[in-house]
Amino acid sequence: MTGRIVVVGASIAGLTVAETLRQEGFAGEIVLVGDEPHLPYTRPPLSKQILMGEWEPADAAIRTAAELDGLDIQVRTGCTAIGLDVAARTVHTTDGALAYDEVVIATGTEPRRHPTLPGALMLRTMDDAVALRQRLRSARRVAVVGSGILGSEIASAARKHDADTLLIGRSGALGFGGVGTLLSKELIRLHEEHGVELALHTEIESMDASASGTSHLRLVGGGERAADLVVAMIGGSPRVAWLSGAGLDLADGVVCDVVGRAVPGVWAVGDVAAWTDPATGAPRRIEHQSYAIEQALSVALRLAHGAESPAPVPLFWSEIHGTRIQSYGWFDTTRPLADITGDDDARGRLYGSHDDDGELRGVVGWNATPRAFRAARAAIHIPAAPITAAL
Ligand SMILES: Cc1cc2nc3c(=O)[nH]c(=O)nc-3n(C[C@H](O)[C@H](O)[C@H](O)COP(=O)(O)OP(=O)(O)OC[C@H]3O[C@@H](n4cnc5c(N)ncnc54)[C@H](O)[C@@H]3O)c2cc1C
Repeated sequence: MTGRIVVVGASIAGLTVAETLRQEGFAGEIVLVGDEPHLPYTRPPLSKQILMGEWEPADAAIRTAAELDGLDIQVRTGCTAIGLDVAARTVHTTDGALAYDEVVIATGTEPRRHPTLPGALMLRTMDDAVALRQRLRSARRVAVVGSGILGSEIASAARKHDADTLLIGRSGALGFGGVGTLLSKELIRLHEEHGVELALHTEIESMDASASGTSHLRLVGGGERAADLVVAMIGGSPRVAWLSGAGLDLADGVVCDVVGRAVPGVWAVGDVAAWTDPATGAPRRIEHQSYAIEQALSVALRLAHGAESPAPVPLFWSEIHGTRIQSYGWFDTTRPLADITGDDDARGRLYGSHDDDGELRGVVGWNATPRAFRAARAAIHIPAAPITAAL
């Protein structure tokens, strides 16, 4: 096809759509609209190499301006989409209206502000990461609020900076992406071995900051903790406010069919997109970088020449206190993982999630060698997806 494709959101998902379109021979105009001042960069290093001080911001850039020019992609940084008119096929932005033939929404998520910690730092963007790293360099006592994976990663970075670190969670367990809390015991042990103090089942009533820079966290049910840096990571919300009134289903992100189409001419990919899961028939949002890339590839192939591509499989990785944890596939979070390491545990530990028929549907590698994790991945059962759809 030719014409103009507008991609809103200039991060990993949006950029992957734009460059794949070009690589697949799309000869029309491609406009990539992003509200951040930076060219696209990758977010996983923000809570790892950037926070630890191992990388500088430029190391996380995905493409240079020259590479984007070479692909003939018009990148509009610092430009915010403020509305979508589906009938008129127009995106309204802070720099004016953009007509499109097809639009791809890739606006990601934004962190939820903790209701009783308005002054706590959060982490989503490069600017957040640079500001947090600066504070970590001098903080002696760090309180991280949030029992998800980013809470764990930030606690790990704080220990690397030698700070006394307290990880506070409202629930009694620690989560790991799509694996839910199935790895909680292992994660708690890992934090304790590295000197992180855990306060689970703990809610915060209020926070007072003193002139000295120390914050006092008052806990529900009594007790107080002091910290000179408080970070709150309690999950994200899809960035869909700009789409209100567009007539899309925005129940949790942009609800799409099994191939990422919201309505004719409108597609969504990445963290903002809730593609219908072919296995369950229900929309599901997954916040993993490689899943965002696979969705982007799939939509770009479809737009470029109507090609089908396999349904994406969620893949997630993290590094906490130097331990590499990876997950691949789908997890039944209501039953425990099975230890599938086998005889050779020098290759790291492997855990599996099985469905009702005993089929392996998801695997976790805990410091697993690349070879062992690859072999475990290859053994999982991937359901055939009904992915045929006409443009
Ligand atoms: C600190 C951190 C660490 C992570 N670590 C891992 C990891 O180890 N492994 C992993 O698999 N995943 C990780 N993730 C998740 C991963 O980064 C996301 O899944 C991925 O970034 C999703 O890409 P995306 O392009 O869909 O959304 P995003 O990366 O959120 O990009 C959306 C872009 O759209 C822009 N935007 C939003 N609204 C508008 C608008 N109205 N107009 C214009 N632009 C707009 C945003 O500013 C942003 O630049 C991490 C995320 C964070 C924040």
